[in-house]
Amino acid sequence: MASEPLASPRLTVTGFDPARVRRDFPALALRPYDKPLAYLDNAASSQKPRAMIDAMTAYYETSHGNVHRGLHYLSERATAAYDAAREKVRVFLNAADQREIIFVRGTTEGINLVAQSFGRSIAGPGDEILVTEMEHHSNIVPWQMVCEQTGATLRVVPMTDAGELDLDAFDRLLSPRTKLFAVVHISNALGTVNPIKDLTARAHAAGVPVLVDGAQSMQHGPVDVQDLDCDFFACSGHKMFGPTGIGVLYGKADLLERMPPYQGGGDMIEQVSFTSTTYARLPAKFEAGTPAIAEAVGLGATIDYLGAIDFTALAAYERDLLRYATERVSTVSGVRLIGTAQERAGVLSFVMDPIHPHDIGTVLDREGVAVRAGHHCAQPVMEHFGVPATIRASFALYNTKDEVDALVAALGHARDLLA
Ligand code: PMP
Repeated sequence: MASEPLASPRLTVTGFDPARVRRDFPALALRPYDKPLAYLDNAASSQKPRAMIDAMTAYYETSHGNVHRGLHYLSERATAAYDAAREKVRVFLNAADQREIIFVRGTTEGINLVAQSFGRSIAGPGDEILVTEMEHHSNIVPWQMVCEQTGATLRVVPMTDAGELDLDAFDRLLSPRTKLFAVVHISNALGTVNPIKDLTARAHAAGVPVLVDGAQSMQHGPVDVQDLDCDFFACSGHKMFGPTGIGVLYGKADLLERMPPYQGGGDMIEQVSFTSTTYARLPAKFEAGTPAIAEAVGLGATIDYLGAIDFTALAAYERDLLRYATERVSTVSGVRLIGTAQERAGVLSFVMDPIHPHDIGTVLDREGVAVRAGHHCAQPVMEHFGVPATIRASFALYNTKDEVDALVAALGHARDLLA
């Protein structure tokens, strides 16, 4: 007789053990103000696995020299480690070629690179650059700067009150004048997961290239840039359990080949004279100066670490955790959720009237609960919802239901104290 599937929600976590993962992150054992730490500020930056910390220490102790320059033992070791990190990123993003992986400082620099190199060379008066209402300032301001420089106009795809993009408006805004569509994959302020594959297909049908702000995506699992078919994808190491100071810009090789360099200097040239300079091949053309070598090594080690995670099981675990957090936090009196999209990941944003989010954040901190209170560098999102700021709890693979319970208890405490 066929047995009935068990209804236990625990089945969803098969293959993923948060307790095991937690032991790999030394900072999670900290006890701020003698309270257990509930680190729920992962959308701002995530904590780091021991594997990454050890890899960076080992690199500095045994392998540091400058890359691509010296013909000596340490320079060769550093170069090999740096190049190996690029290959690990290529595989994690499923890019077709290492030439498509540019190391940058983070998402912000990746977007600015595309804005100043690609955007500035294709846009002119009468042209349009399309962004959305839910973008982080990093995916707004660089395009405003390009518009100022070129005479192009910034257009904005609106979102609904649930925090989902208005796809009909998107279709209407795409036109022969549109030179680029820049869109966030997962909103850091709302948690909305945008249907990037669909958006990219629609934009491409109108002949419009697409840049994806992936700052919040990679911490939830590898991203397949070929499947998404986006033209550019920018992300930050520090949000995906890797080091600060390093990020990745993926770009399709044919576009990167045609783009002018972003910064000039060492390493990005082939030949320099006072009359003319020729540029290095990809990816060096976009990596002027000494790169963040140790950070690239650390990012590679993080990707190796993540390689041992069952991402299908993790996705189920994170979905369950966010559902639990949404249900539990909604029961706290005065709480109003900001962002109720069908597809959300990692982020729970809310206000608790009439208390100001900053005051709540301060009380939560004293209870050992780390959240972010503010506009999350997404002021147009705050404007849409008519709030100056929200409280944002953001979750990563090491968070647990116990930590959600600690958040809910601390919110109750804040209400008693401040309301
Ligand atoms: N875009 C989004 C959606 C983000 O969440 C962030 C970081 N908060 C950024 C861009 C900028 O990332 P970074 O500061 O690492 O460059």
